[in-house]
Order: sequence, then C-alpha cells, then structure tokens
Amino acid sequence: MSFLDNLFNQWSCDMAIDLGTANTLVAIPGEGIVLNEPSVVAIDSDANRVLSVGTEAREMIGRNPGNISVEKPLADGVIADYDVTEAMLSYFIQKANRRTRFYQPKPRIVICIPCGVTSVEKRAVFEATIQAGARQAFLIEEPMAAAIGAGLPVEEPTGSMVVDIGGGTTEIAVISLGGIVTSNSLRIAGNEFDEAVARHIREVYGLNIGVRTAEDIKIAIGSAMPISTGELDMEISGRDLATNLPRSEIIQSEDVREGIRAPLQEILIAIKETFLETDPDLAGDIIRNGVLLTGGGGMMKMLDIYLTNELEVPVYASDTAFTNVVVGCVRALENPIALQRSYTQR
Ligand code: ADP
Ligand code: MG
Repeated sequence: MSFLDNLFNQWSCDMAIDLGTANTLVAIPGEGIVLNEPSVVAIDSDANRVLSVGTEAREMIGRNPGNISVEKPLADGVIADYDVTEAMLSYFIQKANRRTRFYQPKPRIVICIPCGVTSVEKRAVFEATIQAGARQAFLIEEPMAAAIGAGLPVEEPTGSMVVDIGGGTTEIAVISLGGIVTSNSLRIAGNEFDEAVARHIREVYGLNIGVRTAEDIKIAIGSAMPISTGELDMEISGRDLATNLPRSEIIQSEDVREGIRAPLQEILIAIKETFLETDPDLAGDIIRNGVLLTGGGGMMKMLDIYLTNELEVPVYASDTAFTNVVVGCVRALENPIALQRSYTQR
C-alpha cells in the first residue's frame, strides 16, 4: 500500500448499509444509525429521471399520476432493477454522508445480502455499491450480521439460530465458530402476509383494500395466536366489490390470523427443516440457547410464543429487530476477521 493510500485509509470513514427489501438503514462507526428509510424510488418516466427516494417516494405510492412510477428496486431481497438500486444507494450514501461529522467522498462499505443468493446476484450488489461511491465493498450475509448485531456469541463453538423475517425474505441460519453452518432462505415474509390479509378481507368482507392498508392492519392488530391481553379490532375502509363504492367494516385480530395462516405455516416448516439439517450437537445448543427472532416481520404480536409452542424450543423476539443487521455490519467493519470472511474483490 502506498503512503497516500495509507493516509487515505486513516482519514476515510467507513459505512454500514442494511439494504433491505422494505427498508434501508445506514450506520457509521462511532456515530450510530444516520439514515433509515423505505427502499423506494419515484421515477418520472417521461423524463426518465429520479424524482425522489426513500420516505418522500413512499408517500407517493398509490397517489402517483401516470407519468410517475414508484418502484421498489429490490424484490425478495435481491436486486430486481439494477439501475434504480444504484441510484437509490448513491442517494442514500450521499445523504448519510451529509449527516456525518466528516464528509467522506469514498467510504469503505459493509453491506448485507440474503443467504443463498447466486454469485450473479452477489456481484450485482457489489457492483452497485462500488458504482454508488464506495472505495471498497464487503458483503456479509444478513443472518450473520443480525446475529452479530444482536450480540449472539457467533465466534464461540456453540450453535446459535437466527430467524429474520423481513419484507421479501425470511432468512433462517445456524451459526457457529464465526460461520453459517446451515441456512434456509425463503421468499415468504412480510409482503406475503400483506397480500394474504388483503385476499382474506376481499373473500370474507367483499372489500377491496390495497397492500399498504393491509400492511397497516397487519401491524396494528395482526397476531400469530389469540392475544393474551385481549384481541384487537380496527375500522377499515375499502371499495365494495359488488357496488364499487367505498365502505367501512370493523375487523378483528382473528381475521388477520386466518389470512396469514398459510404463509406463517410455510415459515414454520422451513424452520423445522433447518433443524432437521442441523448437526445434533448444534441442535442441542440451540435448544439451550433459544432462537433469535428478528426483522420487522418477526415483530408480529404473539409470534415468538406461537413459534416456541410449535417448535418446542424457546424463541425470543429481539427488542432491536429493525437495527440488528446494520449494527452487525458496523461491528463487522471493526473486525478484520469478519471482513476477511466477507465477499469482496481484492
Ligand atoms: P427488510 O429487511 O426486508 O427491509 P424489515 O426487517 O425492515 O425488512 O421488515 C419489514 C417488514 O416488517 C414489513 O413487511 C413490515 O410490514 C413488517 N413489520 C414491521 N413492523 C411489524 C409489526 N409490528 N408486526 C408485523 N410486521 C411488522
Ligand atoms: Mg432485513
């Protein structure tokens, strides 16, 4: 390394990015989380130009005129639209930069990817990060980042299990000695719950609602089991399927539960399969240590108790579910061994 490179390294700051299907978070070592916005981009299709990104763009969903398209450039945890992802990343990096004490034109970036993505998909995230302004990019797998962020003993010779339910994917991983031993990634998570809720409301109440309303309902009153402190209800509005006119209904937690039964069952099956693929000694560790439930989708009411009952293994909902991955990425930046294990181009 040249003298100049050395100097540059000393001065240049690092950045951690959780590039999620639903939300992107950026953190800086020593400064914490500096940005947390939806992974959404609004594009003026006439001028072929980015209009807004993140929170501002999300406000436009469902309210956009014909020439403005609102896109989620990531689907199922991977890049669905490369150019839009790159534009979004570069906007977030600039914005995060403006919020830091020391402006860093070219940071080193640790960014996460789901488990089990193809090498082409990895490469796409790597390239987009470099194109968006990183001097160096390191990719680490999301459940590993989540485990580090939640403070699990990932480097120890003991098994830890993480279940991360995001917007597009659910990541299940068994970690030991600093590596992922067994993992499963399924493209069923929060978005599927929203669609299932909308479908159920349509079938049972004859009411058409959008997925954003369905998501609001799921978060407000959804639960994986009857709520011990009392079931909830909520007034919702939509368009009557028969008359096409607006109509309101009062719905219950039970409605959401009925709706999400199938996708929830699939997640449960995937966790059970991961257990079956796990070495008995590690499985024994997990039974003792419990399973960490994280990601926004993991915050559903009563989900930890539902999974505990079904798996007969203690499942703990993390109280830092939304930030574990980005915090884990920051810690990885400070850990040369973790960086060495990451996917990068040297
Ligand atoms: P990603 O990592 O894919 O960007 P997040 O971890 O940010 O996803 O989680 C986003 C998902 O979590 C969305 O589907 C959202 O609806 C869901 N979510 C957020 N809060 C709750 C909650 N309290 N109950 C159920 N689902 C929730
Ligand atoms: Mg995530």
